[in-house]
Amino acid sequence: MLRTFTPKTRSSTVLQFARAYSSAKEFDTVVIGGGPGGYVAAIKAAQLGQKVACIEKRETLGGTCLNVGCIPSKAMLNNSHLYHEAKHGFAKRGIDIGEVKLNLAQLLADKDKAVTGLTRGIEMLFKKNKVEWFKGLGTLKSANDIEVTLNAGGKESIKAKNIIIATGSEPSPFPGFEIDEKQIITSTGALALEKVPEKMIVIGGGVIGLELGSVWSRLGSEVTVVEFLPAIGAGMDAELAKAFQRSLSKQGIKFKTSTKVVDSEKKDGKVLVNVEGVKSGKKEALEADVVLLSVGRRPFTEGLGLENVGIKPDNRGRVEMADNQFRTSVPNIRVIGDATVGPMLAHKAEEEGIAAVEHITNGHGHVNYNVIPSVIYTHPEVAWVGKNEQQLKEEGVKYKVGSFPFAANSRAKTIDDAEGLVKIITDAETDRILGAHIIGPNAGEMIAEACLAMEYGGSAEDVARTCHAHPTMSEAFKEACMAAYSKPIHF
Ligand code: FAD
Ligand code: NAD
Repeated sequence: MLRTFTPKTRSSTVLQFARAYSSAKEFDTVVIGGGPGGYVAAIKAAQLGQKVACIEKRETLGGTCLNVGCIPSKAMLNNSHLYHEAKHGFAKRGIDIGEVKLNLAQLLADKDKAVTGLTRGIEMLFKKNKVEWFKGLGTLKSANDIEVTLNAGGKESIKAKNIIIATGSEPSPFPGFEIDEKQIITSTGALALEKVPEKMIVIGGGVIGLELGSVWSRLGSEVTVVEFLPAIGAGMDAELAKAFQRSLSKQGIKFKTSTKVVDSEKKDGKVLVNVEGVKSGKKEALEADVVLLSVGRRPFTEGLGLENVGIKPDNRGRVEMADNQFRTSVPNIRVIGDATVGPMLAHKAEEEGIAAVEHITNGHGHVNYNVIPSVIYTHPEVAWVGKNEQQLKEEGVKYKVGSFPFAANSRAKTIDDAEGLVKIITDAETDRILGAHIIGPNAGEMIAEACLAMEYGGSAEDVARTCHAHPTMSEAFKEACMAAYSKPIHF
């Protein structure tokens, strides 16, 4: 029903508003969203002496990352890898353990234990740092006023000198697919399937599709990944993407690249996914027990009340920054993490949370967007930072490449896990490291060395002349650097 907005109702609304906010609790900074961007910002602001509140509508803190993202997916990646190794890898290592059986309920319980432990940990950090947590949905009412619709019932009004929007993201929907989180699922459903599906179709060969596709493939599902682009890996270095696809194919995952998904239908307990070759136009119907939609995520701002303060999201739903201090078009309202532009990564959100708070408290804050690493936690892992060859070619930058295979690394050979390579890209004139791309065991840990070197403007020679312990995988990183500016010893 449309409500007529007469001068009388307007003045009584203004009166109600004034009354609600005159008794409101006041804070220096209020963060809306308790994910890695929001909770880190809240803790940092408290550490810097501010009176801080964080509004989170979930019953637990930690956002997507801790509840339905990074943490549960990594727990399942780890345990599914151990299961797969026990089943297929132990015997050749001389370890006979008899029949290996999957206890899926326990595997899910173990994942839940990691989530509960870590989300409670954030709650304790809030208490320790005196961050007040409002459990409910935060809605902006003005540049300084927020209404919280409390999970426990009722509403509470709070006032803030500064507001940080950290409301995160949600899975992008896909037309023609109705998500039920049982048969047509997002990553959230893929973290809680009660049965290993016989056949799983993964739509989108990006990070989520490859990580969670790997999990269910290792647990016994026949997994087919359908990717629109000619390559998997959501824009990673082309050489690595090829090596990665080869490796996952050997593990049993099937790929249909350059393939467009048209629509789906449910029939006899199965889902039929109609696909079409992007160039060939060849049509095919793929059958699955479960379909995982992983075609990207979009910012989440529902119920946030952006319209009440005149902030208009861009055409992809992102709340844009008006300057490099994370300010939106309303100067005391800042935005960080998945809700704004940039890679949707937990560590990017955290960096922005700290920098935004530093801007509020002392006017300085810094995020180096050239050095934000990406990691895919499959086996082998894939990790990269900085520029890849395609990008440097497009930019017309002259570069050198140094590569070193794990097959020539003593530690990788010792543990019989020697698939992959380290590839270092340097400026042809200065030897400065422009990018590092690793596929192999422990790539996600090793990329930190590249980040540190790049943050300090290091050259390949700088790294190559740094003593690395033997025998370690990191020697492959050193040797790739040697290859970039001179020659490696062991290859
Ligand atoms: P979020 O973590 O999404 O948190 C936002 C929070 O705000 C949510 O808890 C939400 O409930 C709350 N909220 C929203 N609106 C309101 C409101 N109006 N009032 C109150 N509360 C509100 N990234 C990595 O770096 N590494 C990984 O390994 C990784 N793995 C992932 C695996 C999966 C399956 C998924 C889905 C994502 C993964 N990501 C990973 C991405 C990562 O989770 C996000 O980039 C990160 O969580 C973004 O942090 P954020 O704080 O911006 O938002
Ligand atoms: P993504 O952007 O990584 O990959 C989506 C893939 O879907 C792309 O390869 C794209 O080409 C493909 N695609 C898009 N439309 C398609 C269509 N119609 N048919 C077939 N393929 C299609 O997105 P994601 O995997 O959903 O992940 C979302 C976000 O979550 C990412 O930004 C990622 O950074 C983050 N995440 C990070 C990690 C990690 O850091 N390890 C893990 C999971 C998720």
